[in-house]
Amino acid sequence: MTATNRPTVKLAASCACGAIAMAVEGQVVSMLLCSCLDCQRATGSGHSTVALVPATALGVTGTPKSAARTADSGATFTRHFCGECGTPLYGQSSRAPDLRMLAVGFFAGQTDWFAPRQLIFARSQQAWDLVSDHLARHQRYRDSEP
Ligand SMILES: [Zn+2]
Ligand SMILES: [Zn+2]
Repeated sequence: MTATNRPTVKLAASCACGAIAMAVEGQVVSMLLCSCLDCQRATGSGHSTVALVPATALGVTGTPKSAARTADSGATFTRHFCGECGTPLYGQSSRAPDLRMLAVGFFAGQTDWFAPRQLIFARSQQAWDLVSDHLARHQRYRDSEP
């Protein structure tokens, strides 16, 4: 089997308490890990695990809470999560309004399609946070990103 950079997925799951459901159907745009300090705080771990999908591929049932902050780049980055149980849902950036950044673990048990290709914000990766050596490292954003 040839691993693909852009798998087509069809997923549905609910948060830990069941207040929010998300369904994704479409082609993944990009897969990555992010070790920025904001992702470390938001996940309580060493990095976030993200699949970018077109906004049109994502359906959300229920009313998420959200928190916006200004990223280093100047973009506004908004994280959405369940206000009842705190499960992370997805993020979005004002720089890429047509994309949604799925918290891959939301679909726990259905994530065998996920194959990250890069670690971004490697400058703040922690030595204890083990990430495969074969992943491309970018000190900040991926070079090709705006
Ligand atoms: Zn919940
Ligand atoms: Zn990050």
